[in-house]
Amino acid sequence: MIAVVGGGLIGLSVAWYLRQRGFDVVVYEKNSAGRGASWASAGMLAPNLEAEPGEENLVKLLLESLKMWPAFAQSLEKQSGIDVGYRTEGTLSVALNRDDVQRLRFQHRFMKELGLDVEFIDGETVLEQEPFINRNVQAALHSRSDHQVDARQAVEAVKKVFMDSGGVLKERCGVAKVVVEDGMVVGVFSCEGFRSFENVVLAAGPWSRHVDGLPEQERPPVRPVKGQMIAVRDTGTTPLVQHVVWGPQRPWGPCYIVPKRGGRILLGTTVEEKGFDVSVTAGGLMNILRGCWEVLPALSELPVEEVWAGLRPGSPDDAPIIGPSSTKGLFIATGHFRNGILLAPFTAKAAADYMETGKLDDLAKPFSPQRFKPRDEPG
Ligand SMILES: Cc1cc2nc3c(=O)[nH]c(=O)nc-3n(C[C@H](O)[C@H](O)[C@H](O)COP(=O)(O)OP(=O)(O)OC[C@H]3O[C@@H](n4cnc5c(N)ncnc54)[C@H](O)[C@@H]3O)c2cc1C
Repeated sequence: MIAVVGGGLIGLSVAWYLRQRGFDVVVYEKNSAGRGASWASAGMLAPNLEAEPGEENLVKLLLESLKMWPAFAQSLEKQSGIDVGYRTEGTLSVALNRDDVQRLRFQHRFMKELGLDVEFIDGETVLEQEPFINRNVQAALHSRSDHQVDARQAVEAVKKVFMDSGGVLKERCGVAKVVVEDGMVVGVFSCEGFRSFENVVLAAGPWSRHVDGLPEQERPPVRPVKGQMIAVRDTGTTPLVQHVVWGPQRPWGPCYIVPKRGGRILLGTTVEEKGFDVSVTAGGLMNILRGCWEVLPALSELPVEEVWAGLRPGSPDDAPIIGPSSTKGLFIATGHFRNGILLAPFTAKAAADYMETGKLDDLAKPFSPQRFKPRDEPG
C-alpha cells in the first residue's frame, strides 16, 4: 500500500503509473488536486531551448521525458477522453537587436555542441512563420521539437485516469504527519487519522520540506519560487501567433508567449523569491507585458482573461529531486522547478520502476536526494 503526499501533476502521474503496475495507491491532497504549480504552469516542453551551460545531465533527463510525452499524452487522451492540448508547432527564441543576436549565436554554439535540435534562422524567415512579430526581428533560434501541452487539461486527465484505474484520491485531506519508526515509514496522519503504509511518495511541491514527521536529514531542500502569469484572448480570425515564442533577455525579466487552443494566449513570467506569497502585483504584470509587447505589439489590443501566480518547487541546483531517501519506504519526487510538466512522465516511470524493482533509473541517479546529504569527512 502506497501513500502519495500531494496531488499535483507529479504526485498524480506517479500514482497513475503505480496503479498500472498493480499497487494500491492513495493520493492525499490538502486542497483541490492539480491547483498548485501544475495549474499555474505555461505547459512548455522545451528542453532544447532551455538548455544552459552546466546543466548537461539535466538536459539528458529533460530530453528523455520529452520523448515520452507523445505516448503519455496519447494514452491520457485515449483513456480519459480529455484533450490535453499537445501542440507540435515548435518554439522560437527571438532577437530584436544586435546584442540579442550575439547572445543567440553564443547559445546556439553551446546547443549544437550538445547535439540539440536547434536551428539559427534570420529575421525574414521568422516573419514568414510568425507575421505579427515585431518587424525589427533580427533572427531567432528555432526548435522544432520543443512542444507544449495544456497543463490544466493534463492534470485533469491524469486525475481521471488514476481514479478510473481504481486509485483513491483524498482531496482537502492533507498529510499532517509522516510516521517513521526505526528508520522506516509506517504510515501517515491525515484527515482520516492514522493509516498504515509501507511506502510514501513525497510529491508536495514547495511544501515538501515542511511535512511534519520527516526525519530532519530527509527534508528535501525545496523552496517556493513565485511566477506570475497573464492569459489574454485572441479574438481575431487569423491566429496572432502559432509557435511558443520567447522574447530576448531584458533587465525586467523573461518573456514567453504560449498560444493555447481556442485563442487563449499565455504570457509569462516572473521569477521571484517571495516565500509562499501568491499575490499578483502591478510590477509583475507590468514586467511581463513590457517584455511580451516588445515581441508581439498587437497583444496590446487583446482582452485580458485571467491573471495568477504559482509557486515552482525550486531546489538548490534548480534540478529535480527524484529517488529513495535513507528512510526505508520514503521516495522523494519534488524540486521540479520550471520543468515539472515536462518531467512528469519520466518521474512517474522512475518512481514506479523503483517501487517494482528497487532500482533507480540511471538517468535519475544524478538527481537523487542523496546529493544534498553532507559528505563524511575524510578520516
Ligand atoms: C508560472 C509558472 C510557469 C511554469 N511553466 C512551466 C512550463 O512551461 N513547463 C514546465 O515543465 N513546468 C513549468 N512550471 C513548473 C511546473 O508547473 C512545476 O514544476 C510542476 O507543476 C510541479 O508539480 P508538483 O506536482 O510537484 O507541484 P504542485 O502542482 O504544486 O503540487 C503539489 C501539491 O501538493 C499539495 N500539498 C502540499 N502539502 C501537502 C500535504 N501536507 N498533504 C497533502 N497535499 C499537500 C499542494 O496542495 C499541491 O497541490 C511552471 C511553474 C510556474 C509557477
